[in-house]
Amino acid sequence: MQKRLFQFLFIFFLSSQIIQAQKPQKLNSGEIYNQIQKLNFLGSVLYIAAHPDDENTQLISFLSNNIKARTGYLSLTRGDGGQNQIGSQLRDLLGVIRTQELIEARKIDGGEQFFSRANDFGFSKNAEETLQIWDKQKILSDIIWTIRKFQPDVIINRFDHRTSGNTHGHHSASAKLSFECFNLANDPTVFPEQLNSVALWQPKRQFYNTSWWFYGSKEKFDAADKSKMLKVQTGVYYPLVGKSNQEISALSRTSHQSQGYGSIGSRGIETEYLEPINGDAILDSASIFEGIDTSWNRIKGGKPIGDLLKTIISEYDFTNPSASVPNLAKAYSLIQALDENHWKELKSLDLKNIISACSGLYLEAVAQNQEATPGSSVKLKLEAINRSEVKMQLVSVRTLPNQELIMQNKELINNISQNSTLDLQLSESIDYTQPYWLKEKGTEGIYTVSDQKNIGIPDIIREVKVVFLVLINGIEIPFERTVVFKSNDNIKGEMYNFLDIVPEVTSSILDKVLLFNDSKSKSIAVKVKAGKDDIKGNISLELPDNWIVSPKNFPFHIDKKGNEQIFYFDVTPPKLAEEAVAKSIVTIGNKSYDKDQIIIDFDHITKQQVLKPAEAKCIRFDLKTNSETIGYIMGVGDEVPKSLTQMGYTIMLLNPEQITTEKLKNIDVIITGVRAYNTVQALAKKQDILFDFVKNGKTMLVQYNAPGTFVTPNIAPFPLKISLDRVSEENAAVRFLEPNHPVLNYPNKISQTDFQGWKQEQGLYYPNEFDKAFTPILSSNDKGETPKNGALIVAKYGKGYYIYTGLSFFRELPEGVTGAFKLMANLISLKSNN
Ligand SMILES: [Zn+2]
Repeated sequence: MQKRLFQFLFIFFLSSQIIQAQKPQKLNSGEIYNQIQKLNFLGSVLYIAAHPDDENTQLISFLSNNIKARTGYLSLTRGDGGQNQIGSQLRDLLGVIRTQELIEARKIDGGEQFFSRANDFGFSKNAEETLQIWDKQKILSDIIWTIRKFQPDVIINRFDHRTSGNTHGHHSASAKLSFECFNLANDPTVFPEQLNSVALWQPKRQFYNTSWWFYGSKEKFDAADKSKMLKVQTGVYYPLVGKSNQEISALSRTSHQSQGYGSIGSRGIETEYLEPINGDAILDSASIFEGIDTSWNRIKGGKPIGDLLKTIISEYDFTNPSASVPNLAKAYSLIQALDENHWKELKSLDLKNIISACSGLYLEAVAQNQEATPGSSVKLKLEAINRSEVKMQLVSVRTLPNQELIMQNKELINNISQNSTLDLQLSESIDYTQPYWLKEKGTEGIYTVSDQKNIGIPDIIREVKVVFLVLINGIEIPFERTVVFKSNDNIKGEMYNFLDIVPEVTSSILDKVLLFNDSKSKSIAVKVKAGKDDIKGNISLELPDNWIVSPKNFPFHIDKKGNEQIFYFDVTPPKLAEEAVAKSIVTIGNKSYDKDQIIIDFDHITKQQVLKPAEAKCIRFDLKTNSETIGYIMGVGDEVPKSLTQMGYTIMLLNPEQITTEKLKNIDVIITGVRAYNTVQALAKKQDILFDFVKNGKTMLVQYNAPGTFVTPNIAPFPLKISLDRVSEENAAVRFLEPNHPVLNYPNKISQTDFQGWKQEQGLYYPNEFDKAFTPILSSNDKGETPKNGALIVAKYGKGYYIYTGLSFFRELPEGVTGAFKLMANLISLKSNN
């Protein structure tokens, strides 16, 4: 059970550079030494919070690299509810990106990553609401499962379990659940079914990792009574890697690119504060492990291993790490002789990594293609090379999951490569590569993961591997390698990806929301992509019977794997308003395929394949528009332009650098994408042109920006101040402050029901102070809060209109929320009204 988990938890200590996420990391002599020291420490800490980026990377790095503890971070969610600063992916796809960012962060700071099934459903103002939506019992079960599996000596909470409501509800909920679990994990009556796979576990103590920002200011924190807190000096320097702890922490933090968390490293003394909240207090000690045996003596038969490792450490030769290999191999065989035990598994894996690093033993299995289909045969190139004088023999290679054993019996002589090829046969039933937590349909609050063993695993589960069995100094050691694909990029150089198992064919309805303003037919584009060579079949578009699709299907033939064809179906909607789901289905022989392949590919994370149902939402409703031409200025990335095209508008994507009065001549309305004034520097120089555009009689619509740094102090022609005001209850009642205002009446009559069925949130970062030139149109608030009136404010400027809105159009339009379409059409038509 645990073996599988640990296969994904290679800990690479302080890798000096992360160039491309999935490249194998190669340890230098100093890094190997640190890893050997870590082998000799048997203590563990689990840090618990709610989101990717909640974790204190400074403390995690310190615990992992200075104390040399096994350090885990359990992020209850994968961060689906956040915003995205590097692309237009939202919800579950953003969760996939943020999962990978956390995995990269841990490779840098030396921690290990875990998740629960909790879904980040968006901002929540208190823990009670959060626990209701999450399903408290299930998340409690996941935390206890992780504790029983990880067996932490110490648990550290990022948030305070005693308060609720002064931070994100997910934050307080994470702390409350973690606090409850401290004793429950050791209670045999709690989730007893787990005990078939994991044992009871009692952590020794639990802390709350407080910080000045929970006190409101540094001054207040300086004045606070900290006598009951443990102070940990985390500002240490690691000469073997040439970095301070804070510099490593900053690199780790910078992995959160989608959240814009680039960080500058610092140096010098720094203190972290830990307030004991459970278990044995240890205030007069400097170590969180006080009184806990963190040596090999803590396990039966461990003492000789600890003694041997001490010898290895004292005799370590920085100019020749391979001199340690005979003793390391001996330590490996001693560990194998131990009774089955938590540490046995972990340390064996670490030790194998150290042995290969010390001896320059490089083992790799490279597929000829990056994608393969079930039932096909994958050509693999194997490379095995020992770059030391240590005597080694490649005994055999075994392929997984098909368990084919191929004897080798080849000497691995210093710096002589042993290359070979083999064909790996994939079974027809092998799973497609995809995030396991998205395979089944979840709820708003929780992913569905039906295999309990997978809960907690951070990453995609990759099954295709090669196990190289190497005889080192008379001891057989199996080294497992996931099959990769390599290519050369003329600019970036060697590129690594994993082998992905893909369907034989995938299809995609290019627009995910299709609007039918009247009963005329529309052409719908469907793309078919071949997962293997020479596929022949039929593609059809399925809709309820009152939607007429023509033709019924298209036959197709694609001869090359990876190639695509696009087909256009004519769809005639019913007369009356209706919503339906269109599904594209490919049939080949008697098999049908209904998956859409989504590739997420950024340089800072491993390339991800997500398979979703190939579907789109078709909406027949009466939307009135006035065919304006829209100039759209992209911010950090959103799907609003696609939605505007669906609404029937002509869209011109404007390059902000090239905006001139002349270029705007044929445009009626300028819309800025989300966070444009936080990120698009060129806008600072173009404000005069844009404001003149408004003054001369046109409309400008600015979507939400986050408070903080703006590219210009004057984002509007009149003063306004962006605040943290938000309405996170997506269906909060909306009051009309100006019921007769054109934006609520023309060309579409807006009613309160148009604010029902919104997704995730109503809006965010509303202006809370604005010039009297602005007319606030709407008012709403979350339960128990004061009214927020800045969601939509409109100002007449010259002959035109300037509109600022924090309403979440960027979420609602791509989800096909009809009320949001109507309101957007009215904002665009404001000028046409007069
Ligand atoms: Zn958070």
